[in-house]
Amino acid sequence: MKELDELNEITTKLSELGDLVRTEVIARSEGSSHSFPIHKITFGTRDPRAPTLGLVGGVHGLERIGAQVCLALFKSLSELTLWDETIQRTLENVRIFFIPLVNPVGIITKSRANPRGVDLMRNAPVEADSPPWLLGGHRISPLLPWYRGVVGEGMEIESSALVNAVRREGFQSRCLVTMDFHSGFGVRDRLWFPYAKTTKPYPGLAYAHSFKSLLERTYPHHFYEIEPQAKNYTTHGDIWDHLYDEYEIQNGRGVYLPLCLEMGSWLWVKKNPLQIFSADGPFNPVKRHRQQRILRRHNTLFDFMIRAISSPDVWCSLGPEQKNKHELQARDAWYGT
Ligand SMILES: [Zn+2]
Repeated sequence: MKELDELNEITTKLSELGDLVRTEVIARSEGSSHSFPIHKITFGTRDPRAPTLGLVGGVHGLERIGAQVCLALFKSLSELTLWDETIQRTLENVRIFFIPLVNPVGIITKSRANPRGVDLMRNAPVEADSPPWLLGGHRISPLLPWYRGVVGEGMEIESSALVNAVRREGFQSRCLVTMDFHSGFGVRDRLWFPYAKTTKPYPGLAYAHSFKSLLERTYPHHFYEIEPQAKNYTTHGDIWDHLYDEYEIQNGRGVYLPLCLEMGSWLWVKKNPLQIFSADGPFNPVKRHRQQRILRRHNTLFDFMIRAISSPDVWCSLGPEQKNKHELQARDAWYGT
């Protein structure tokens, strides 16, 4: 069986960290000739109400750079945990968990889908408003991309393990932020918030806007395009729509902001057009120097997210007037209403 480098990196790091982290194999992903564990690694407090940050990668196997960025951030936090007293104190009050390789078989076989041909980002029980044909998710055949799976079979092993893990780590939290790393759409790095299923505003819109305002005040020269995912296209079965709606029903009092970082890979292709014919296709930086640049590119955002969950009141505890102000500004910015 071929080895997966990223998985070896995780196991090496875990042996160095010992009981500084809590680890769990949340499922095994099995293909015809591969079988790999899906790891969850958790730093910080066990208090279920504590602010929580979750970082997820490798949902789409083809977008290997997403798993690698998630892994790079995991390794940086691991080192900081060993020596940085500020981070050690921060982790007494917050929880940070990583699931860097959700679809490990897809990564090694260079497939977007899981071993059964299912697109894990089309697989949750969520129906969209008029999504684009095929791209928005379909049940025609696993041989076509964006396949949702068979009706009534429930979620796939990988997507259901991810959903259950986020529920366990974050559903009692008063402030939960998740970030799922993808690549492939456009030339800019986009931070997408819900919904994917509809172009209508989602109930947490004011918080997406207060988070964005805080990022812009803190780092006015950041390069992210922050927008609702459905501004680009709507999809059936989005995992984060599903988790958001469930959190709202079950938690009721807290704030959950699910984000997807969609790294704009078309720029890498523009600078190196021949990579479109390479085995890694148009979704990953092929040249080593470009890959290194991408791996360090999101360090500031990661640092910001840790600070934003460590001081959640500044953007999560909005009074009625502030909430209304953010809601109106958000509707004006993103929905033209
Ligand atoms: Zn993706």
